[in-house]
Amino acid sequence: MIATEDLTNSPQGIARAAEILRAEGLVAFSTETVYGLGGDARSDRAVARIFDAKGRPRFNPLIVHVPDVAAARHYARFDARAEQVAAAFWPGPLTLVLPLRPEAGLSDLVTAGLETVAIRVPAHPLAQALLRAFDGPLAAPSANPSGKVSPTRADHVRAGLAGRIEGILDGGACAVGVESTILGLDGAPSLLRPGGVTVEALEAVLGVGLVSGGSAERPNAPGQLASHYAPGAAVRLDVHEPEAGEVWVGFGPCPGAALSLSETGDLVEAAARLFHVLREADQRAGAGGRIAFAPVPEVGLGRAINDRLRRAAAPRG
Ligand code: AMP
Ligand code: MG
Repeated sequence: MIATEDLTNSPQGIARAAEILRAEGLVAFSTETVYGLGGDARSDRAVARIFDAKGRPRFNPLIVHVPDVAAARHYARFDARAEQVAAAFWPGPLTLVLPLRPEAGLSDLVTAGLETVAIRVPAHPLAQALLRAFDGPLAAPSANPSGKVSPTRADHVRAGLAGRIEGILDGGACAVGVESTILGLDGAPSLLRPGGVTVEALEAVLGVGLVSGGSAERPNAPGQLASHYAPGAAVRLDVHEPEAGEVWVGFGPCPGAALSLSETGDLVEAAARLFHVLREADQRAGAGGRIAFAPVPEVGLGRAINDRLRRAAAPRG
């Protein structure tokens, strides 16, 4: 259990929240849509802890919050269409999915290893103040346990996440109360999730109709699955004793393993290292090579880790 600090909408409360975030802690804060569970989007550990605190069974990509379009351009590639909708709707309840700038240093866990990033500039004055005080990008899914209703007040957050996060920054009740609209602009403009900005308003600015798209978790267009990072090597799971020629990735004590998700068997560390280790193992295995993962327990974050490993091990067409 972690002591969860109640932080007020004051210079002191905001400074304390930024301090917690700089130490890779988690702070829930109000936005105009719902309360977000914020963590440093550059830190694998902070992002892993977000999944842990929410009890999410799967590493779906998270929305990255920044204070303005200039900051957004640092992490994502903007074309003319993206500039147009950003100028029209930011700050506000609109998230854009854009090509990632991989060199900008976001955690692989925040993008789920994709080559795109979902990014938003919230309008809420407290969210703005926090982003400026922290001076970095914040990953922030809704601040509720997985599968529960999104919180629109600080006491909703406390009811769901007290003891699992370091702080709750109380900015009062959220005005919009529904999540941000997610617009995919990495191809033809597509509606990935309806939300606070209407389709009609987006179409009026873009001058074209929106294609209805799938989300990265539930792709309904061919090609979206393929964009998920999948190793080139063949992957076997639950391996206690690797075969000759396999790159063995350990979890907990695994004498002789080439790599490890966590030598101490720590699930937060394993989640934080997951995408890095997948890439590293793939490189070591080389073309036509094979990777074998030691078993990871199917509890807490282990469920999300195993979900991702099963996808990596699934036969590919
Ligand atoms: P939440 O952060 O819980 O409000 O939800 C984030 C939503 O954004 C999820 O439905 C994700 O699937 C979607 N999302 C985040 N990043 C991407 C991305 N790179 N491509 C497509 N969808 C994304
Ligand atoms: Mg949610």
